[in-house]
Amino acid sequence: MKLVKDTDQYSKKKQGVSDQKAEQAIKTIIQWLGEDTEREGLRSTPKRVIKAFKEYFRGYKEDPSNYLIKTFSEVEGYDDMVIEKNISIRSHCEHHMAPIIGVAHVAYIPSKKVVGLSKLARVVEAFSRRLQTQERLTMQIAKTIMKVLQPRGVAVTIDASHQCMTDRGIKKEKTTTITNYFLGAFKDDLSFQNRYLRYINKE
Ligand SMILES: [Zn+2]
Repeated sequence: MKLVKDTDQYSKKKQGVSDQKAEQAIKTIIQWLGEDTEREGLRSTPKRVIKAFKEYFRGYKEDPSNYLIKTFSEVEGYDDMVIEKNISIRSHCEHHMAPIIGVAHVAYIPSKKVVGLSKLARVVEAFSRRLQTQERLTMQIAKTIMKVLQPRGVAVTIDASHQCMTDRGIKKEKTTTITNYFLGAFKDDLSFQNRYLRYINKE
């Protein structure tokens, strides 16, 4: 039941690259920009960048399914959908390493077990803090909740802007991308899906 596969792969791949080596790579990029890496303002930049990268990409060290293991069964028979709206997302696209900034909405229909509300946001966070595509991020969140929590259905929507599109290339500042992924009752029963969509579109 544990989705440890990807985290295992990632940590294995990371082996062999020290912080020092990564800092050296940032230094090379700064030099490539034509800058003097020894001037005061830039001297500690490689160190700071790697420290920041550890934060941006800390999701590689997490197994998101762990957040869903602790559940509550005493919910007095509550069996309708639980929707967590506007979970902020900060991720990075795997094609340009540019920021993806937006929100996620996550819903599930419990079958006996419910999970602490902050845990859904934690799952979103753990998958966001990796190099991503929005499509995969949406699916990974939905599939993990479905697999670990085994609810009657899961719905995930992400609405985000990609800085690789807004700041470079085609430069469409206002464009956002919306992705949806439905599983179980949200996929099979349009009345659940429609209610969910109505709730998340309400201000
Ligand atoms: Zn991109």
